[in-house]
Amino acid sequence: MVYDMIIVGGGPAGLTAAIYALRARKKILLIEKMVIGGQVAETNLIENYPGFLSITGPELADKMLKQAEHHGLEIVYGDVIEYSLEGEIKKIKTYQEEYECKAVILAMGAVARQLDIASEKEYMGHGVSYCATCDGNFYKNKEVAVVGGGNTSIGDALYLANIVKKVYLIHRRDTFRAEPIRMQKIHELCEGENPKLELITNSGIKDIEGNGKVESIIVENLVDNSTREINVDGVFVAIGRKPDTDHFQGILNLSESGYIITDEEMRTNIEGVYAVGDIREKDLKQIVNACGDGAIAAMDIVEWFNRKK
Ligand code: NAP
Repeated sequence: MVYDMIIVGGGPAGLTAAIYALRARKKILLIEKMVIGGQVAETNLIENYPGFLSITGPELADKMLKQAEHHGLEIVYGDVIEYSLEGEIKKIKTYQEEYECKAVILAMGAVARQLDIASEKEYMGHGVSYCATCDGNFYKNKEVAVVGGGNTSIGDALYLANIVKKVYLIHRRDTFRAEPIRMQKIHELCEGENPKLELITNSGIKDIEGNGKVESIIVENLVDNSTREINVDGVFVAIGRKPDTDHFQGILNLSESGYIITDEEMRTNIEGVYAVGDIREKDLKQIVNACGDGAIAAMDIVEWFNRKK
């Protein structure tokens, strides 16, 4: 069977593309590697997606999935190991099977960036985490560190402050990329005699120490190079994400940082191959415009099919 479209990645961009394509009565398949919802499923609280004053990431992801399923979404779970994108019929191979389609929408988002220290790998899953929503509950009444200065780290710190005894928020600068409204909440938590949160700016984690699991971190002040050891049970790394586009080197046009370059209709340099959401080179990476990308790509493919008839 040849699908009209195969969507790779089940985050907001991929799910929106699916909803639009299914409502246009196209035969589609969505391939997801891990968890439907992508980065959203790992986000604790979302307060800027229109229609919801506030909603948890897993809840929003579930609503999007249910909507796509309502329209007949077919999903397979698997890791794509090979893409053949040239030619009229495109082939996508997972470990289990090979699928064929007329158009491909790449919606795989981006993967968590890691700190560049050896001990991070050693303690991965033993105190080092990249998902506060998934792992936060293991740290009830314990002390943890969060690294980063963007919306993810700030959201993580706010979320964890409700669970753990204390959060050390470590950022390499003294200015933050996160929205001011979130930073205001952070500053409020730093107040008082026994603050729930301690802000450590102009600093980075030099080393993570422990014995089978994380016990402390060595924090270096990047201005005067002084160091300080802080006892923590967990380290939540939230320093941004990077696209997983190695497959497409020399095939699709990529930006310097590896994101897929598209035009405004989400078309890549290969006819019938589209990229949407966080895997695409663009400035603003939000759920709302990831959904927009998905809708644009799906509808452009539908029009392209109509023109070819
Ligand atoms: P981000 O905005 O790129 O922020 C990454 C942070 O990590 C920056 O503060 C950066 O520092 C720091 N950083 C990068 N590499 C580092 C390293 N090697 N060591 C230490 N620190 C490092 O990433 P993000 O927070 O994951 O957000 C990604 C996108 O998703 C953004 O557009 C964000 O607005 C969006 N987002 C939205 C929501 C929401 O609206 N609900 C929630 C989460 C994320 P510098 O500032 O010094 O570069």
